[in-house]
Amino acid sequence: MTPSLDAQPVLPLLPVEVGRLPHAVLQMLTQEGLPWQVRGSAPATRFLLWDSRRERPQPRPGQRLLDIGPLLDALPRDVLADRDCSRPTQWQLGNWTLCEQTARHDRRAVRRRFATRLRTLLEEAGGVWLAVSPYPAPYRSWFGFRLDHDCYRADDFAAVLRAIRGQEHAVSHYVNADGYSQAADALWALRGWHVGSHGYWHHTYRSVKENLYNLRRGIEWLQRAGHAPVGCVAPHGRYHHGLAEALRQLGVDHSSEFALAWDELPFFPAGSPVLQVPVHPVCLGLALEAAARKGAGEEELQRAAEITAEHFVRLIHQRHQAGEPLILYGHPDGRLGRYPYVLRRALDSAAALTGCWMAHLAEISSWWRARQGVRLQVEGRPGGCLVRAVSLPERYAIGCVVRRGTAQARVVLRSSLTEVRWDELSFEPEARAQPQGLVVRGGPCRRSWRDRLRACLDWERVTPLGELRGGGIRGWAKRTLRRIGA
Ligand SMILES: [Zn+2]
Repeated sequence: MTPSLDAQPVLPLLPVEVGRLPHAVLQMLTQEGLPWQVRGSAPATRFLLWDSRRERPQPRPGQRLLDIGPLLDALPRDVLADRDCSRPTQWQLGNWTLCEQTARHDRRAVRRRFATRLRTLLEEAGGVWLAVSPYPAPYRSWFGFRLDHDCYRADDFAAVLRAIRGQEHAVSHYVNADGYSQAADALWALRGWHVGSHGYWHHTYRSVKENLYNLRRGIEWLQRAGHAPVGCVAPHGRYHHGLAEALRQLGVDHSSEFALAWDELPFFPAGSPVLQVPVHPVCLGLALEAAARKGAGEEELQRAAEITAEHFVRLIHQRHQAGEPLILYGHPDGRLGRYPYVLRRALDSAAALTGCWMAHLAEISSWWRARQGVRLQVEGRPGGCLVRAVSLPERYAIGCVVRRGTAQARVVLRSSLTEVRWDELSFEPEARAQPQGLVVRGGPCRRSWRDRLRACLDWERVTPLGELRGGGIRGWAKRTLRRIGA
């Protein structure tokens, strides 16, 4: 006989317990900041999320089972598996068609859809959505600019340093060692700022062995130049197992590849302790390339730079308004160094926003790890709830976001015990950022069979022939073709 509800213990509303769920789902819960715990790892709580396709758990007394199997059916397989799923993507900016090889799916949109459906399930079952904010209190978004220093040009380098003056703390520098091999002294100008590696040779290889060699060499080169790099970003933004495993073995703190994710909150890919901090994949270089494809002169190139600056500023305001983060990226050589006002305008626009955290990628990684260590327990109270917090970091203030329907409110946790009364919260409409430009698949950005063959062979000419280390048929074919001068 089922005991009456009155006899059931009243369990905490949060964290939710989770059964056997895919890693990507747990990462989405973490990104959202919804407290969760693995079933059996701590005393039971009110709601157990489970997947009816994989198991049939027994609820504890006072616990409710929420089957999220149907929600998982709607998730793209590539996202669930953190697989290399990049493909040509196209943005339309003014008259220019910009092409880039990016992740097939907009992971941010996938996550937000999943979270909305999960919240509805929870609310219908009498639960609450109280999540740790993605930003340290009192911020409501963050902004940073990532610079990929592919090669050194003195004038461009100097122009970029002038453009970031006063906002250096929001700029991340990733340096390619080969491109700066004759200009290591110039890097002294970056002392005290966040400097990471962009590889030794400017290529992301298919094999673990080659990436391991290339990234380690790039890191050691930076160390000899007096820097202490903790992050690496892969040349061309590519991401696959050969890169992920090399980053893991090197103990890299964070990485950032738009072939895995773009415009998204940070997350740990499956099996990796290397934090992925996604960027926006549209850069000035893409706009200049698009203009050059049409044989544009200097005036048109100026126009392309102007349109990129407008795109950046629009995006900065839109993301901030929606409470979402943004990391832009670009290259000093021949691009931002030539049109430095694009960089300056972006930094000035973000810095002028109230509540926008200006931070570089290492700082964001440090924050994200501290945030992930916070443990919350939420108990229901008449007209509100009681939040117990453990492991609050000393360095950052923790805020929470309460979501209900299409509204949200913020609460700052000032101690390990916080009483929340629903009628004292200031709810505001929840805004969502829409993608800027038009994301289109295929069209003029479609890859030719030559491009596919090159990708298959891991084709490139930046690595000297004598240093090619790839094994198997791919390595042999690449070396042979390079030797005969293909
Ligand atoms: Zn690069």
